[in-house]
Amino acid sequence: MTAPNISGEYDYEEEREKSEEESPKRRWVNAMLKSAKRYHKLCPYFDKKTGQCLLYPTIFNTIGKCDREGRYDNCPIFMKFLENAYDSFTRRRKVLPRDFQELVNQAFLIM
Ligand code: SF4
Repeated sequence: MTAPNISGEYDYEEEREKSEEESPKRRWVNAMLKSAKRYHKLCPYFDKKTGQCLLYPTIFNTIGKCDREGRYDNCPIFMKFLENAYDSFTRRRKVLPRDFQELVNQAFLIM
């Protein structure tokens, strides 16, 4: 637990964020994001011709455009995709991919 702030109260919000950051899910999602950046400058799910987000249907069940021009750093849809993948792998007790490319190759099997 962190030290109390100057008024003597604990910052529970900070504490929660810290423990979330250190959770296995958060660590894996961050590792996948880092790995994706090694392979892709722009989001691999951004259709440059139409501007569509190819992950949008899997997250929202409808089609949608990318409003970020393919910049996927901190994109909530991309992060949700990684979180869903983590949940699917762990729920089925499958070994988690160690690399984004490995995840892409297996995602259609698991999700
Ligand atoms: S909205 Fe996010 S996930 Fe979808 S194409 Fe754009 S950057 Fe990628």
